[in-house]
Amino acid sequence: MILRWRDVSDHTEPVCLEDSFDLSRLAEEHSQIAQIDPAHVAVCASIHDQMCTIQGQMDTRITYYCSRCLTPTVQLVAVAVVERFVQDPDKVDEDDDQVHLVSDAIELDPYLEQAAVLAISYRPLCSDSCQGLCPVCGINKNVQTCTCDTRRVDPRLADLAKFFQQDE
Ligand SMILES: [Zn+2]
Ligand SMILES: [Zn+2]
Repeated sequence: MILRWRDVSDHTEPVCLEDSFDLSRLAEEHSQIAQIDPAHVAVCASIHDQMCTIQGQMDTRITYYCSRCLTPTVQLVAVAVVERFVQDPDKVDEDDDQVHLVSDAIELDPYLEQAAVLAISYRPLCSDSCQGLCPVCGINKNVQTCTCDTRRVDPRLADLAKFFQQDE
């Protein structure tokens, strides 16, 4: 998505645009994502004091693999978009990474992609109470039960237990 500084500065009212934005690359880069729908982006731009502020929202739908049971689970994601652009290098503040230097073309794609990356869940869950997979037999404990012994005994503790048993 590209906005032109000139178009925005020609208008006294904010200049708004809507578009769909392909985020499928994120699914390739993040193994916990099964699918990510094209985002719907709606932003408005206005210039004040030689700074162009772009704000709006990006909505998408991400299908994750649950990090415990691997079941695909859909989450609706709404990401706020706020970026500021300036044409005067003196207006760039080193400490404010939301201010970017541009000439006329304001290319939004990298910022939209970055905002989407920040919204990605790294340990997605199908539900907070997901029981996960049995580490022994691999069944999904949300839908089945098993009688596997999943107590993990540290070998050093096992030796210690033997030691105390001998003592008795
Ligand atoms: Zn789960
Ligand atoms: Zn089991």
